[in-house]
Amino acid sequence: MRAAVLHEPMPVERGPLVLEERPIPEPPKGHVLLRVRACGVCRTDLHIVEGELPPHRSPLVPGHQIVGEVLRCGEGASLREGSRVGVSWLGGTDGTCPFCTAGEENLCDAPIFTGYDVDGGYAEYAVVRADFVHELPAALDDRHAAPLLCAGIIGFRALRVAGVRPGERVGLYGFGASAHLALPVLRAWGCKIFVSTRGERHRAFAQRMGATWVGGPLERPRVALDRAVTFAPAGDVVVAALGALRKGGVVAINAIHLDRMPEFDYDSLLWGERQIRSVANMTRQDARDFLALAAEIELSAETTVFPLERANEALAAVKSDALDGAAVLTIDDDAGRAG
Ligand SMILES: [Zn+2]
Ligand SMILES: [Zn+2]
Repeated sequence: MRAAVLHEPMPVERGPLVLEERPIPEPPKGHVLLRVRACGVCRTDLHIVEGELPPHRSPLVPGHQIVGEVLRCGEGASLREGSRVGVSWLGGTDGTCPFCTAGEENLCDAPIFTGYDVDGGYAEYAVVRADFVHELPAALDDRHAAPLLCAGIIGFRALRVAGVRPGERVGLYGFGASAHLALPVLRAWGCKIFVSTRGERHRAFAQRMGATWVGGPLERPRVALDRAVTFAPAGDVVVAALGALRKGGVVAINAIHLDRMPEFDYDSLLWGERQIRSVANMTRQDARDFLALAAEIELSAETTVFPLERANEALAAVKSDALDGAAVLTIDDDAGRAG
């Protein structure tokens, strides 16, 4: 099979991913072999290939928003062969640590992350744990379903972590793949949506999608916000969001990595029971709840498609915020059938 492989992290402009031929893996006990049909490109992939997140294994096939077809089941796995499933960032947990037993598997002490601890979906085939795949909304084709699997699920978790209630005023800071999937959820909940983002193009996109207000990254809406979610990997943005909150408001940080956290004034920004919370990973329940809601409100990602061999380019586009919505790798059908 063909796979885009990372050997050594480096800036994406230097082409860290190399297209290679590899044997098709066999699914071990409890796993399934998928023929990958599409794989979303996430900012976390960028942090992995550029080395902001320390490598967990090398070589590595990244990619954790996999839409695939079940080709073969390993011993003990009983997914229907030929069925279409989705795979996300949380590729496995131990099921036994204090967090797992408390229903907080997103905080598991021994998690397995897809495309980080195990090979992911930037390839024609992938092996995944059978108990960590998700049913996908039938109405969505592969490329529109793929970004729901991390950008969508974790954006949804961020709204939960921020404690969003129907009708509230919610700020979205940054308007990439995840935010553009959170916006229609907020609309469905009757919220007023305030989008702060750099780049006229992203502001216009947010406006077209129904934002109540749009502004620059450090601009403050005239009304105080109940909640905010920051998507940009920048600490300055977290402080800006904090400054826009009412008393008792919450900022949820939807970023696995921040450049730095600047000093800020406690008295004016955090006093008054304002809170900053981080959003770590996801649970399978988040995935089930979000994918059901996505089907109900007919949520569909805005996507730009790249073939597998252009994975470096897709990552560069994410890095430079050059796209509206999400980048998705699609896997060539003819090559797939040959396997
Ligand atoms: Zn655990
Ligand atoms: Zn992701």
